[in-house]
Amino acid sequence: MSSTREDSIDALLEPFPRETIGHLPTPLHPLPRLSEALGGPPLWIKRDDCTGLATGGNKTRKLEYLMGAARAEGADGVVSFGALQSNHARQTAAAAAALGFPCDLILVTNVNYREPAWEVSGNRLLDELLGAKLHIVPDEAAAAGCLQTLLGGANDAGKQLYVIPTGGSNAIGALGYVNCAGELLAQCEALELRPGTLVSATSSLGTQSGLLVGLHAARSPIQVRGINTYSAHPANQAEALRRLCDETAELIGTEPPPSDSLRIENDFLGGGYGVPSEAMQRAVEEVARLEGVLLDPVYTGKAMAWLLAAVREDRLSPEEPVVFLHTGGSPGLFAYQQCLSGHPAP
Ligand SMILES: *Cc1c(COP(=O)(O)O)cnc(C)c1O
Repeated sequence: MSSTREDSIDALLEPFPRETIGHLPTPLHPLPRLSEALGGPPLWIKRDDCTGLATGGNKTRKLEYLMGAARAEGADGVVSFGALQSNHARQTAAAAAALGFPCDLILVTNVNYREPAWEVSGNRLLDELLGAKLHIVPDEAAAAGCLQTLLGGANDAGKQLYVIPTGGSNAIGALGYVNCAGELLAQCEALELRPGTLVSATSSLGTQSGLLVGLHAARSPIQVRGINTYSAHPANQAEALRRLCDETAELIGTEPPPSDSLRIENDFLGGGYGVPSEAMQRAVEEVARLEGVLLDPVYTGKAMAWLLAAVREDRLSPEEPVVFLHTGGSPGLFAYQQCLSGHPAP
């Protein structure tokens, strides 16, 4: 039997140490009521909110390879970063707990949103339950100082800390989404589904980079649209995506994806990272009420808002199915309680 393209992605990932902590493959299923309500292309959803690890999300796949590297390097503990309501921080805390690593989390509070629940509930509550040590700091400069202090202390104690970047987004973390590309292609083949577009929220870019590198390695025609939920500087974000795609392709020894495939949509960021928008609120409600699927206020709600607008404005071919990558984040709903509650069904 000839080997399939997905097998070749498996072969490319074979050399890298991995902790198989995810619940994989995640489901790929249609969204029939949402598709019908919109009257555009058939919409499907890839449920990476169901990856396991303390309510799931896209960081699980990255952490399989990052924790694999931490173990291979003989680390005594891990340290990572995020905003106070970071899903990445929560999933890192869960992965560390499951694998027996002490975990330090450096969390910044400089997000332009406040309500009482944002300060104490959602991901932050879960970080504490999962046993991570929290270091809450005002901004990135203070986070860098905190990291130096932790590394110095570990060094004095003869211990080695493995540093996981924000969002788990370096080339090693992106391998998790090279893997997802192979998984998705195998599922599409089994279902005889030929999507034209794959839509994902994008922030620290490991998800989008891994998908682009994996799909290009498999010669897939699926176009990836990353919906910017983070950066107010699109030019920097585009450059960072180019760099991470190149580093990830180099790590696995494949050709980098062409520049015209690196597409980021910048119109749905609203007031900035973690700042709610009207379009996000409507998208979260619409998908909850039509499909019983929970999105999140920081990432997937804004990405879905882009998709709803693109379909309503006829910007996507009605013939080609669209896959929405659900990257997780539902604990964030509880941190935005004031903004999301009190909208009864009409
Ligand atoms: C981190 C995150 C993203 C963005 O993924 P990146 O790889 O950082 O671009 C999207 N959705 C959710 C729910 C996340 O937690």
